[in-house]
Amino acid sequence: MKLAQMTAWQLKEKLSDKEISNREIIESVLERIDLKENNIKAFITIKDKKKLLAEADAIDKRRLKGEKIGILDGLPIAVKDNICASDFPTTCASKMLKNFIPPYNAGVMERLIKADAIVIGKTNLDEFAMGSSTENSAIQLTRNPHNPEYVPGGTSGGSAAAIAADETILAIGSDTGGSIRQPASYCGTVGVKPSYGLVSRYGLVAHGSSLDQIGPLAKDVKDAALTLNAIAGHDHRDSTSLSVPIPDYSELCNNSEAFTIGVPEEYFGEGLDKEVFKSVKQTISLMEKSGCKIKPISLPNTPYGIAAYYIISCCEASSNLARYTGVHYGYRDKNSKEILDLYLKSRSKGFGKEVQRRIMLGTYALSAGYYDAYYLKASQVRTLIIKDFNEAFEQCDIIAHPVAPGPAFKIGDKTSDPLTMYLVDAYSVFANMTGCPAISIPCGKTENQLPIGIQLVANRLDETTLFKAAFAVEKILKESGVSVK
Ligand code: GLN
Repeated sequence: MKLAQMTAWQLKEKLSDKEISNREIIESVLERIDLKENNIKAFITIKDKKKLLAEADAIDKRRLKGEKIGILDGLPIAVKDNICASDFPTTCASKMLKNFIPPYNAGVMERLIKADAIVIGKTNLDEFAMGSSTENSAIQLTRNPHNPEYVPGGTSGGSAAAIAADETILAIGSDTGGSIRQPASYCGTVGVKPSYGLVSRYGLVAHGSSLDQIGPLAKDVKDAALTLNAIAGHDHRDSTSLSVPIPDYSELCNNSEAFTIGVPEEYFGEGLDKEVFKSVKQTISLMEKSGCKIKPISLPNTPYGIAAYYIISCCEASSNLARYTGVHYGYRDKNSKEILDLYLKSRSKGFGKEVQRRIMLGTYALSAGYYDAYYLKASQVRTLIIKDFNEAFEQCDIIAHPVAPGPAFKIGDKTSDPLTMYLVDAYSVFANMTGCPAISIPCGKTENQLPIGIQLVANRLDETTLFKAAFAVEKILKESGVSVK
């Protein structure tokens, strides 16, 4: 097996045994990128090869000297291009920010560097993280490594595709309504949306500030746990960042507890693809056989999730995107004669269609006379949804259901109808609206060999139970010989 195809933990072991060097890992990943990237197009920017090798050499040298290396051990990591990094452009896959190089590193970037990760490049996304397929990127089309005619999911489609194509060992995404978990499930990788407040949003280009979280995408649960340990923790520059103890998540892989798994009936009804239904149910019954208790539960406000999410997220997005005026930075129209004309033309030409649609929807829903009917109502629905989850967690430790209503769809299939695209998020927006942590784990494949993901959701700030259950699910699938790769 090539080094680029191994997991972070396999590589960490070989590094500590001095069997391999960081230079060899970077070389292997770059070779893979040379082979795959022309077709996949996961990256918007890849760091210069010489610089990457120099970074690897520096870590190899430190290791030889016996110096302590951070937990990410010089491993290659790809970062979604809506996270500010001072030695890369941060484009958000938008014409608006095409040439923007941030003057500072995001909190997560600082932590990755401190953990001695090597950031190899910035990955593609739907413009400003709005979409579900990465097709809204103004820069390029990313393809699903399992079948190039299919989307990789979105909005962290570049990060998920890069992991699935072995173009990186680890990756970082952001998740406002499913953007880590859904592409992870479409590409057959693991993806974690941490509890709201666990990972700093400082330097993440804001989409919906009450929903956004940064999290890891990886080849397996243990690699995701390692990456989350590197990036989680309090940051005073994000006012919603929490100061809570961060246990070693990777260590939880050895537990053998049995859980009560809540299965919400609302997530298995109309609109769910048959093959996804079968795989997820099969995984749940394997858990039952291994000793877990399965408890049918109800989350009665599920039908209102998508409507509430799209009102809240568009309102927040319209307010967050007001800063892009063409004045301080970003796309600036050259032919405007006065200030309002400059705003109008810069914003009309700099933003793509979907982003403009959301700015208009959000501005409308927040305007005088409509606020009560839309934003306020949606916020009340959000409170009811939180209540549903609180009640559910009185009856179970973990909730299990599909990540998305179907597997990856064909490129172009949903681009002409935004509502159909929004429905892809029907099962993923709840973790964001409640602040709960959630993980997507590959649990099978369709007849067409497209990956299927199961989603586990834990109570707020209970990443410990989330990871314990995730390790258990991954283990039972492996032991039962279910093909997920
Ligand atoms: N698909 C959802 C949206 O477009 C979620 C996006 C995200 O999580 N960034 O709003």
